[in-house]
Amino acid sequence: MKRATQLIHHPGGTCEYTGAVSVPIYQVSTFAQDAVGANKGYDYSRSGNPTRAVLERYIASLEAGEHGFAFASGMAAISSCLALLKTGDHVIATAGLYGGTYRLLTRIYEDLGITTTFLDTGDLKATERAFTARTAAVFVETPSNPMMRITDLRALSDIAHRRGALLMVDNTFMSPWLQRPLEAGADLVIHSATKFLGGHSDLIVGLAACRDPDLAKRLGRIQNAVGAIPGPMDCWLLMRGMKTLGVRLERGQATAARIAEWLVRQEEVEQVLWPGAADLAGAEVHRRQADGPGAILSFRLREGLSGTALCNRTRVWTLAVSLGAVESIITLPARMTHLPYPPGEREALGIDDRLVRLSVGLEDPDDLVADLADALAGAREEEAAP
Ligand SMILES: *Cc1c(COP(=O)(O)O)cnc(C)c1O
Repeated sequence: MKRATQLIHHPGGTCEYTGAVSVPIYQVSTFAQDAVGANKGYDYSRSGNPTRAVLERYIASLEAGEHGFAFASGMAAISSCLALLKTGDHVIATAGLYGGTYRLLTRIYEDLGITTTFLDTGDLKATERAFTARTAAVFVETPSNPMMRITDLRALSDIAHRRGALLMVDNTFMSPWLQRPLEAGADLVIHSATKFLGGHSDLIVGLAACRDPDLAKRLGRIQNAVGAIPGPMDCWLLMRGMKTLGVRLERGQATAARIAEWLVRQEEVEQVLWPGAADLAGAEVHRRQADGPGAILSFRLREGLSGTALCNRTRVWTLAVSLGAVESIITLPARMTHLPYPPGEREALGIDDRLVRLSVGLEDPDDLVADLADALAGAREEEAAP
């Protein structure tokens, strides 16, 4: 089945008892048992809920996995996956990844004795050199957020597996519509479903998928033991959003291409970072492992111009954290999503007050470009003002 069809006709998507074409919301915590130890497949909704179970099969099928897991948030998904590790283990992670993941690794897991080396995982030689006897996992975002560094998933999964480490990929930026890391050899794929999968800025949910039954058993145990699960209503709302993932992303991506092309021609813009730009380092690798450049791009204003001034002036673009929604979102990562990074480290990554991130939604492309043009003109005037 092709992906567009899979999004609509996913396993369990039609109720087998009534024919309802929308998954029933099992708003329930416990299930009556036939006898002690005998139930109909469910006993308590933390351990398993029929609505959540359909969502879990849905993400497994989209990611070409065998097992899916839903969590209360993207961070709950990431921390539950990292709970596969133990004290003394070492992690290699993409430098500049999502601020919340950086915070989790450096402030929570570090205290539990799990150390992390952050580096450009796109540099395979440097990544291989960073392995130690204790490296148990490699945690990757590709493209990375917001610098769009590209990591070769196939090559890195070979390296990780040769060293006996798991490859975990946060696939939030691409979604399974554009990139399926399990097909490239990753062991675990993780999502903040809050973003593209949900798509409407109306829920917080995390997802994960894998192929290996043993890994699935371990992650299922963590999911049940830690209990960071989403409620049935949010699972349902997420599935409603997922049905339109393909059309939303295709449209956002087409508009992103138009905006990238326009930004490159603006004298206020020093650099445009987008996987669809031929001059982006790793663009070739990205084209090989993904089906499109995606709907998120970053750009750097030329020296003297302030990203804050630009962001404060947009009217059509929503100034907010988050991404992957029907509304286009403008973000200043240095002061918003990447605040958990120490200032020095942030600057070293290139995340400064001139770097702006755009998540392109579904508005008319003309309005989005015109709004950016007005905001750029405003930022220029502010620069000229004494
Ligand atoms: C938003 C985001 C997260 C965290 O997800 P939540 O649903 O907000 O907990 C993790 N990774 C990436 C890349 C994100 O954009």
